[in-house]
Amino acid sequence: MARYNRILLKVSGEILSGNSDSVIDDKVLSKLTDDIIEAYKLDVQIAVVIGGGNICRGRTISHSGMNQVDADYMGMVATCINAIAMQSSLESKGIQTRIQSAITMTEISEPYIRRRAIRHLEKGRIVLFAAGTGNPYFSTDTAASLRAMEIGADALLKGTKVNGIYDKDPLKEKNSKMYKEISHDSIVKQGLKVMDTTAITLCMDNKLPIIIFNIKEKGNIARVLKGETLGTIIK
Ligand code: UDP
Repeated sequence: MARYNRILLKVSGEILSGNSDSVIDDKVLSKLTDDIIEAYKLDVQIAVVIGGGNICRGRTISHSGMNQVDADYMGMVATCINAIAMQSSLESKGIQTRIQSAITMTEISEPYIRRRAIRHLEKGRIVLFAAGTGNPYFSTDTAASLRAMEIGADALLKGTKVNGIYDKDPLKEKNSKMYKEISHDSIVKQGLKVMDTTAITLCMDNKLPIIIFNIKEKGNIARVLKGETLGTIIK
C-alpha cells in the first residue's frame, strides 16, 4: 500500500541530461521512466511536471541580452520537448500517458484542462504537464505546486540530485546536515534554496506537503511512496 493516492512528481530538466553532454541521456531517461512505472504499479495516480533546464532557462538567456519574456517562452517550449521524450519512453514500456500543455500545441498535446487531467488519472494514465504555468516569470516548480493543488494531489514529490534539504550546500560544504522534516515557513525564513519562494508559499498556504528526495538513486520514487524515511518532508 502506498501512503498517497495521487501525487505530483516534479522532475527538473537537468536530471534528464545526467552526467553526459547530451540534452537527454537515453539511459537516464529510461531509468527514470522505469522508476515512475515502479511507483505507478503501487496503485498511485501520477502526474508529472517536467522542467526544461537541460535545454534552456529563461533567466540564463535573458542575461545574455534577450528579452526575459521571450526567453521564458523558449524555456516553456523546452519543457514540451522533455515531455515528449518522457511520453515516448513511458509508452514504449506499455504505459498510457497524456501530455497536457499550458501553451496550446494541439498536434503534440492536449491543452491543460483540469477536469480532463483528473479523468485521465482516474483511468490510470500518467499525465505529463508541459509548458509550466504558461506564463513568463514563473518556474516549473511553481507550475508543479499549482498543478498539484488543482488536481488535488496528496503530496508534491520533488526529485533532485541531492538526498534532501541541507542547512548548507552539500555539494560544496562537507559538514552540512540534512533535515528529515522542516516547515514551509522555515524554508522561506532561512532562505534555503529548495524551490522558488512562490512555489513554497503556494504549498504553505494550501498545506500541501512536499517531499524532496534523490531521484538519481534507483527505486527512490517507490520508496518514498511506501513510506520509507527518505529525503526531507516539508510540512
Ligand atoms: N518557465 C516559465 N514559466 C513557467 C515555467 C517555466 O517562464 O511557468 C520558463 C523559465 O524560463 C524557466 C524555463 O521555462 O527557466 C525552464 O523551466 P525551469 O527552469 O523551471 O526548469 P528546471 O529547472 O526544472 O529544469
